[in-house]
Amino acid sequence: MTAPFLSLKDAIVRYDRLTAVDGVSLELRRGETLGLVGESGCGKSTIARAIVGLQPLTAGTISIEGETLQDVSSQRRVNLQRRIQLLFQDPAASLSPRLRVQSLLAEPLKIRRAFVPENWARIMAVAESIGLGEQLLPRYPHQLSGGQARRVALVRALAAEPSIIVADEPTAGLDISVQGELLNLLRALRDRLGLSYLLISHNLNVVGRVTDRVAVMYLGQIVESGPTATLFREPAHPYTQALLSVNLTLDANRRRERIVLSGELPSPSNPPAGCRFHKRCPLAQPKCASEAPTLQAGAGGRSVACHFPLAAKPAVMPQPIAG
Ligand code: SF4
Ligand code: MG
Repeated sequence: MTAPFLSLKDAIVRYDRLTAVDGVSLELRRGETLGLVGESGCGKSTIARAIVGLQPLTAGTISIEGETLQDVSSQRRVNLQRRIQLLFQDPAASLSPRLRVQSLLAEPLKIRRAFVPENWARIMAVAESIGLGEQLLPRYPHQLSGGQARRVALVRALAAEPSIIVADEPTAGLDISVQGELLNLLRALRDRLGLSYLLISHNLNVVGRVTDRVAVMYLGQIVESGPTATLFREPAHPYTQALLSVNLTLDANRRRERIVLSGELPSPSNPPAGCRFHKRCPLAQPKCASEAPTLQAGAGGRSVACHFPLAAKPAVMPQPIAG
């Protein structure tokens, strides 16, 4: 078995008194798309930033192709981390408003001193294959549509020849039809270029469409993970079930009873004792308030952190309306 391309082990990120990421472990294999889901503020974006080196870990390790970043020289670390590119939630964050598309696409090559005709031709071929024609080259970011700006950001990320793209809410703010196009594009590029993705989103419809595996986060911790198909069909953690019941519009057969979570997402600076979800969990028992459940591996590549995980049960069919 080859080492996972990327692995995060027992990662902790603390800002002041707030623990944004609290003991997260993840693995990403070559060619795989892993979804990271959860409500905003659960620590997903912090994980993305840590993986690409924008946020130091307080504890824990990140390894790329079996090499632990903390153990290698800083030059080696830069080279390893270049293989992972972050697609920001807001393309404006990565596209300088003063540069034309031409310069934006050339810049990553220039930084690597690799701006030679064959590399530029390769980038332009990728750009054209995803619908960015040469006529866009003289434009500035504000002259692009939302979909075009995301594509420019994507081609820029690909110019670094990454093995992994970390995409943080890649479809946020786009029209549904443009969202679909972008997801199809990401999938096609993954297959063509042999990329792996870490796709971060609160949108389970998006995650369900493109990922192989999913990890669900709640207040800085992973509460459930597993293959997307089985996890969506039979969530074992009450939080996953609640997220799915309010989000999924995929198809009626998968629809379950809607579970409305009571209460607000607690502050990560003061997480509840015991199971962090217990104040909102419809299935909480007394034990849940005092003992924190740990992530336990089960059958079929599934893991769950819950004292009373849901057993597999048939999906609830929508009832016909009487009368
Ligand atoms: Fe709910 Fe208890 Fe499971 Fe936490 S451990 S998710 S409170 S049932
Ligand atoms: Mg975020």
